[in-house]
Formats: sequence, structure tokens, C-alpha cells
Amino acid sequence: MKICAVCKRESHGFGFIPPPLRASNPNNRKMMKHFCSMKCQGIFSNNYKENNMIDITKMEKEAIESALKPVGEYVAEIGMNKPLAEYSREEVLCLIEVALTAYFEFMQGKEAEMSEVLPC
Ligand SMILES: [Zn+2]
Repeated sequence: MKICAVCKRESHGFGFIPPPLRASNPNNRKMMKHFCSMKCQGIFSNNYKENNMIDITKMEKEAIESALKPVGEYVAEIGMNKPLAEYSREEVLCLIEVALTAYFEFMQGKEAEMSEVLPC
């Protein structure tokens, strides 16, 4: 029996999983919160948003978007049909580095153009 994360009554099929996790992935089930009602689910999710949402600035949003092209190019280089779950540790680390490099270059006011040579 699952217990409501708000009022501790028996839950009735309402749930919440912190974004960006997906409930469809069985590995994320332990992160799932259960609720007795939509009311308790709403209380929890509103509280979660108030305490966990980061208000990104317009410039940060643009910096994130500036990473789309280099990340896309890197993913294309690895192979568009290769699922992320099959990436090697080094490939995932490089993907993160490509995204962060583009983000910080944008934030530093540089043109967020990827050089011909990948950072890793
Ligand atoms: Zn409840």
C-alpha cells in the first residue's frame, strides 16, 4: 500500500515525479510520490514548484538555445540512430561538455559558433 506524501492516508493512484524524470522509466519509480487525491497532489506540486523552480533569465534561455546546434552536430557525429542509453561514458561526458561550452561561450558574449574541432 502506498501512502499519500501529504496527508499520510492511503494513496489512490495520483502521483508526482520531479521533472525532468519520466514516470515511464522504471528506474525513476523510487522518486515517485503518491497521493490520495488531486487536492494533495496539487498541494505537493505547487510547493515543489515554489521551492525548486529556477527562474532562468532571457539570456540564460538564449544560452541554452545556443547549445542546440553544437549538441545536434555532436549527436549527428555519433549517429542519430544510436540511443542515448547506448552512449559510452566518454560520449556522454563529451555531450555535456559540448552543451556547457556553448552555454558559457554565449554567456561570455562570444559567438556561440562551434569550432571545427570538438572540445573533447
Ligand atoms: Zn492526501
